[in-house]
Amino acid sequence: MAKDDNNLLKKIIAHAKEYGFIFPSSEIYDGLAATYDYGQNGVELKNNIRQYWWKAMVQLHENIVGIDAAIFMHPTTWKASGHVDAFNDPLIDNKDSKKRYRADVLLEDHIAKLEEKIAKEVAKAAKRFGDDFDEEQFVSTNQRVLGYREKIDYIHNKMKEALSTGNLQVLRDLIIELEIACPVSGSRNWTDVRQFNLMFATELGSVADEANIIYLRPETAQGIFVNFLNVQKTGRMKLPFGIAQVGKAFRNEIVARQFIFRMREFEQMEMQYFVKPGEELQFYEEWKAKRYRWHQVLGLGEENYRFHDHINLAHYANAAADIEFKFPMGFKELEGIHSRTDFDLAAHEKYSGKKLQFFDPQENRSYIPYVIETSIGLDRMFLAILSAAYREETLPGGSQRVVLRIPPALAPLQAAVLPLVKKDGLPEKARQIMAGLKYDFNVQYDEKDAIGRRYRRQDAIGTPYCITIDHQTLEDDTVTIRERDSMAQQRVPVAEVRATLARHTDLTGLLRQL
Ligand code: ATP
Repeated sequence: MAKDDNNLLKKIIAHAKEYGFIFPSSEIYDGLAATYDYGQNGVELKNNIRQYWWKAMVQLHENIVGIDAAIFMHPTTWKASGHVDAFNDPLIDNKDSKKRYRADVLLEDHIAKLEEKIAKEVAKAAKRFGDDFDEEQFVSTNQRVLGYREKIDYIHNKMKEALSTGNLQVLRDLIIELEIACPVSGSRNWTDVRQFNLMFATELGSVADEANIIYLRPETAQGIFVNFLNVQKTGRMKLPFGIAQVGKAFRNEIVARQFIFRMREFEQMEMQYFVKPGEELQFYEEWKAKRYRWHQVLGLGEENYRFHDHINLAHYANAAADIEFKFPMGFKELEGIHSRTDFDLAAHEKYSGKKLQFFDPQENRSYIPYVIETSIGLDRMFLAILSAAYREETLPGGSQRVVLRIPPALAPLQAAVLPLVKKDGLPEKARQIMAGLKYDFNVQYDEKDAIGRRYRRQDAIGTPYCITIDHQTLEDDTVTIRERDSMAQQRVPVAEVRATLARHTDLTGLLRQL
């Protein structure tokens, strides 16, 4: 992570705390690692993102319905899904610092350094050759770049071999061979690599024995699979159809860092789309395009997104891609779109002994549907929005402001109502206007401090509109509406305020563009 980007993440973390978006969990006890609480503004933004996702999925698609399954599930669920046996991270300890790392992350970090070296070579050459620079040709012929690339491929292949065969010694050998040192002690004194299961286990009821162990779900998807038949039958759903769910998931992540990007308790928004076998790749492409559009409509900048198609597929998948977002620490996975074949339903059929099939009246036969999954972390989406929205601006007079350019439909507040002064009947008039708006919008009343400071406070939490009540309001029943990004002010009759706000802040405006 470059120094500036590191600074940006630090600034976002500090801003999120100062303005009531995100607090460290149980902070009075010095917090709990990788656990965060959403504050008064954070919860509003989070709710709005969730709403945008839910409506885009469930309300706009006749053939998608939602559920809300329990976090606890029968323990066999996790045997069938493969999580008990294979939801592991390979861990390695440094004997000197006693710090624990994910072996694959140490190797990925090493790869990232090599990628950085390539980027530096490219930047240097671009400067040298100016307008004549052909990047494609350069990276395919420059010896240094080719050398780095070869090394990266070598590490990838070795990692793939180790993770697919479960031969963890290969990972350790690779760490030794690449001379990777512990960032804390600087030594290369490593233990063996061991597997560590990421599921949180607890006991059901009062008797603590093996048989009573249950898990906090590590993903919401399995709650959908085990309800496939319930929903299909009671909703009389025909293929293709989808089931959507938003809810908490828990993973005992070893390397939990980078703020809310990787937490141990987080929220997922997942949709499983059940299709006829053979048609899955067509729907996979359709969902890739649809999900990309959902992001683009927010206007956070097209350059901040890219697809990363998986080359190394999980054994049950026949296509998979991530939508990556340019977070302050670089492009990282924000959402996954996976074609999961019939892996999950077939496994649940096997373990439960219940038939999980769809009767196709046209073909007069039953079969297990194939599944396309779209899976996005709500907290990661929150961080994506904060990172793209955070701006430090110098205003024409030379003063500074921090503004969150959050898409207006998702902002914690849609408007602030501000009487210019605290006297002359302006507060009363402002309260009256506020009372007329509060049923449709989340609005805040603020009369404290000079108007400029109040504008700054609203900018800092991303409020798209400030409605100012002044002496003229009492004469002609007009107010000024100040727009957050341009700071332009417009005089509007009070009777039109509601329609103006609705036009610019309604979720419907976003949904119509999908
Ligand atoms: P990663 O490779 O970053 O660990 P993953 O591939 O394990 O993610 P999935 O299992 O596909 O992630 O989960 C779907 C989505 O859930 C991810 O795209 C991400 O947005 C979110 N997610 C996964 N793990 C976490 C976490 N620990 N904290 C916050 N969000 C998470």
